[in-house]
Amino acid sequence: MAAEIQASIVIVGGGIAGVTCAEQIASQFPSDEIFLLSASPLLKTVTNFKQVSKTLEEFDIEEKPSSDLENKFPNLRVVLSAVKHLKAKEHLVETESGQTFRYKKLCLCSGARPKLLIQENPLVLGIRDTDSAQEFQKRLSKARRIVVIGNGGIALELVYEVEDCEVIWAVKDKAIGNTFFDSGAAQFLIPSLQTEVRERTFSCKRARYTTGASPGGCSGELGSALGPDWHEGIELKGVQQSSTAVQIEYECEFEQIYSQQQLSHSGYSSEKSELGEWPAYVRLTNGKIYGCDFVVSATGVVPNTDPFLNGNDFELAADGGLSVNDHMRTSEQDVFAAGDVCSTSWEPSALWQQMRLWTQARQMGWFAARCMAADLLQEPIELDFCFELFSHITKFFNYKVVLLGKYNAQGLSHDHELLVRCTKGQEYVKVVLSGGRMVGTVLIGETDLEETFENLILNQMDLSPYGEALLDPNIDIEDYFD
Ligand code: FAD
Repeated sequence: MAAEIQASIVIVGGGIAGVTCAEQIASQFPSDEIFLLSASPLLKTVTNFKQVSKTLEEFDIEEKPSSDLENKFPNLRVVLSAVKHLKAKEHLVETESGQTFRYKKLCLCSGARPKLLIQENPLVLGIRDTDSAQEFQKRLSKARRIVVIGNGGIALELVYEVEDCEVIWAVKDKAIGNTFFDSGAAQFLIPSLQTEVRERTFSCKRARYTTGASPGGCSGELGSALGPDWHEGIELKGVQQSSTAVQIEYECEFEQIYSQQQLSHSGYSSEKSELGEWPAYVRLTNGKIYGCDFVVSATGVVPNTDPFLNGNDFELAADGGLSVNDHMRTSEQDVFAAGDVCSTSWEPSALWQQMRLWTQARQMGWFAARCMAADLLQEPIELDFCFELFSHITKFFNYKVVLLGKYNAQGLSHDHELLVRCTKGQEYVKVVLSGGRMVGTVLIGETDLEETFENLILNQMDLSPYGEALLDPNIDIEDYFD
C-alpha cells in the first residue's frame, strides 16, 4: 500500500471554486505544501478579473493544464485523480489512483452534475462539461429537431444558440427563463428567438476552452462545469438549413420518452405515421407528443457529494448540497466546502441568495481559503462583503443582463412594488421596491444603470418621494443621486 501523504491543506476539485481556493491558500502559506485533487485533467482558472462595481464582477475563464498552476505556485501539487473516499473522523482522503492524504484542513469543491430526466438513455443528453458540450455538438450536427426540457440558464442559452435545427422547448412555468426573469422580461426577450438571423455571441470573448488536449485517465463524468459562453467557438448547427424555429410549450414537463420500437408497442402507436419517422418520441405532460432526434435535459444540477458521504456525518441541505455555515464549514470537523457542491445554511443578508453560478463559485472558493487560513492562524474572520448583495452579470439572447438583490422579488411579501421601463428591442429595466426602498433590479440591454442602482440598493435610501420618476428616461438618474 502506498505511503500516507501528510498535507496541511487538501482541496478537492479543479473547477473555479477549487482552483481559486487553492491559489489563495497557496499564496497565503508559501512554505506549506498544498494539494489540489482533481478528477478533471484541465483546471479552470480565473483571468482578467475586473471589479465592475462594489459587488459586480467580471472575469474570463481559462482551462489550463495543471503544470501551469504548479509553476505559478511552487508549493501547490496537483494530483489528477478523483477522490473515492473520505474518512472525515480520521482526516483522510483516498484517491482512485490509490494515494491517501492526511489533512489538517480539507475543502470540498467537487461541483455538481446535471439532474438528468432519465439516467443512461442515449437519447437524453445533459450538458455540463466540455465533453458533454462536444457530444451535444456532434449529435446536433445530424439533427433536424431537438426537444429541450428545462427553464434555467442553460436552456435559455441553448435555444438561442442552436441554428438550422427545429427546437421544441418545454418549460414548466408560464414564462421563459423563470430562474432569472419575470414574465415581462421574458416577453421582452421572446422576439429575439423569432428573429430569422440571430446575432451570435461569438464576438464576446469571455471564456476560452481548450478542448483538444485532455490527458487520459480521468473520468469524463466528473469534468468541471462549463460557464458563461460555454458555446463560444462551438458551432451549434443542425441539418435543417435555415430552419431555426423555436416552439415553446409552456407549463408542461417531460413525461415519457419512447424509441421508435417502444412507440410502436405503446398506446400511441396509431399516432406514429402522423408524427413521422424519428429516433425518439417525447410525450409532455400537456399530452403532446413530438418526434425528435434527441432530448436535452437542462433541469438543474445535483451536488457531487457521493464520494464523501459514506461513513461520515455531513449535514445535507434539502437540495442535496453539503450544508456550510458562514465560515464555509461543513458539519464535519476541519472539512470546508465551496461552490456548486455546497448549500449555504447561514441566515443570509436580506439582499443575497445562493445560486449555483460561476461568480459565487469563485467568491466561495476564495472565502473558504480565507476561512481555513483564519482557522489555522486562530484569527477571527467575518462574512465577506460579497455575500451582502446578490449580483450577477451575464448575457442572454445577446443582451447584457445585470441582476441585483431580490431581482425577482424572491421571498418578499405582497406589498412590494415593481417599476418597469421597456423599450422594445433595446432595454428592459425593472426595479423592485419594498417599503419604498430598492431591493432588487433586472437590467437588460446597455442601460448603464447598474452602479447607481447598486448604490441605491446598498444604501437603502427611501425612494418613495421619487415615485415613477425613478425610471423616467428624461431624468439622468446618475446625476440625480450623485
Ligand atoms: P465545477 O466547475 O463543476 O468543478 C468541480 C470540479 O470537481 C471538477 O474539476 C471535477 O472534475 C472535480 N470533481 C468532481 N468530483 C470529484 C472527485 N470525486 N474527486 C476529485 N475531483 C472531483 N454560471 C454562470 O455564472 N453563468 C453562466 O452563464 C453559466 N452557464 C453555465 C452553462 C452550463 C452548460 C453549465 C453546465 C453551467 C453554467 N454555469 C453558469 C454554472 C457554473 O458553471 C457553475 O456554477 C460553476 O462552474 C461551479 O464551479 P465549481 O468549481 O463549484 O464546480
